[in-house]
Amino acid sequence: MNYFSTNNPNHKVALKEAVIKGLAPDQGLYMPETIPVLPAEFFTRLSSLSFREMGYEIVGALFSEDLTPGQIHELVDHTLIFDAPLVQVEDGLFSLELFHGPTLAFKDFGARFCSKLMSMLQDKRELKVLVATSGDTGSAVANGFYGVDGVEVIILYPSGKVSDLQEKQFTTLGGNVRALEVAGVFDDCQQMVKKAFLDPDLNSRMLLTSANSINIARWIPQCLYYFYAWSRLPLSDKKAVFAVPSGNFGNLAAGILAERMGLPIAGFVAATNINKVVPDYLNGAPFAAKPSLQTISNSMDVGNPSNFYRLLALFDNDESLLKEMVKGYFYTNEQTREAMRAVKRDTGYIMDPHGAIAYLGLKDFMQTEPGEYQGVFLETAHPGKFRNVVEETLDLELPLPERLQAFLMREKKAEKMANDYQAFKNYLLRS
Ligand SMILES: *Cc1c(COP(=O)(O)O)cnc(C)c1O
Repeated sequence: MNYFSTNNPNHKVALKEAVIKGLAPDQGLYMPETIPVLPAEFFTRLSSLSFREMGYEIVGALFSEDLTPGQIHELVDHTLIFDAPLVQVEDGLFSLELFHGPTLAFKDFGARFCSKLMSMLQDKRELKVLVATSGDTGSAVANGFYGVDGVEVIILYPSGKVSDLQEKQFTTLGGNVRALEVAGVFDDCQQMVKKAFLDPDLNSRMLLTSANSINIARWIPQCLYYFYAWSRLPLSDKKAVFAVPSGNFGNLAAGILAERMGLPIAGFVAATNINKVVPDYLNGAPFAAKPSLQTISNSMDVGNPSNFYRLLALFDNDESLLKEMVKGYFYTNEQTREAMRAVKRDTGYIMDPHGAIAYLGLKDFMQTEPGEYQGVFLETAHPGKFRNVVEETLDLELPLPERLQAFLMREKKAEKMANDYQAFKNYLLRS
């Protein structure tokens, strides 16, 4: 299978180049040239398959031209080492808990798949993986790649803009994982990484790659849990809708990929905080990137969502089809907290601020046609990852999951970096 650039459908590369390059030379995002549609028969069997069993078939449909059946099994087995339980929260409304992986966030799926695929495709030269993170990407990628031979990970994060716990998860590993604390915001970090990939001088001297959600190796595996969740919904004549708390929109785009592969999803909710350029677009405004604003759902504080053109590409750039399938909603911090309180009070379920935004979007969407839908909102992080916000909002004490507790004891090792591309380049050349 070849992969084309969203900026130029005639620019096509093989899997290996798409994964190692991450971003196309014209700054476009890679997309699979054809989206395989799974046979109707597959969907009738889905509820009797385990997560891994369906994974082999889905990954097989996408990658069988490039990988052996053995490699496909290895990839899926390496990735799906944890469950994604579908938990009923209200009548006809479910939470898909994607936070049972090593760093307790959904990005573990993509990071694990990506590290394994890169190590399968990489040849002799050492790979440097550059990652800009607004929080959870850094920890998921750092942990997904930690200890993988022949790959070094360099994480750029905005100083003071990620939680202590997030920071500890990618600054304390050491080994092949290094962290740069940038005096800027997330978008500055992302700009520096993008610039490095396009710098011919740098690229002639080292093999650089990305593991952000723009990389197909991070992005594509995220489609798997949509199949799984759909297969575990109770039998019903209601239409399935998925609400996705979104920042860079990789997760939502992966859900649409599943739908394009034949999964019968009737609609999606793109739910954001006040960084709402995509909801604004879906509601009729022109698409316009904006500086990001800080919120309590900080993993979604993104003003220039990098997967936007992938959303369009999934509909062959037909804006009206995109707008038909995806509805945009956004919420303030106060609305987010109010939802967290109401759900805890009425059902006992504890949501993290990101999941709460998806919950709100789902409720608002389902009210547009009462009784028509059963809905799933994606819980993208364990509430313990955003413990301060959850505790002060719900006025309770949340025990920190053991996996996270261990990180807090460790010592932070990060190098400070000016918001300056030349300084970053010099650092890469020195290292
Ligand atoms: C990264 C992240 C998101 C946003 O996901 P995108 O794929 O960038 O839209 C939402 N919630 C949490 C907890 C995250 O870490």
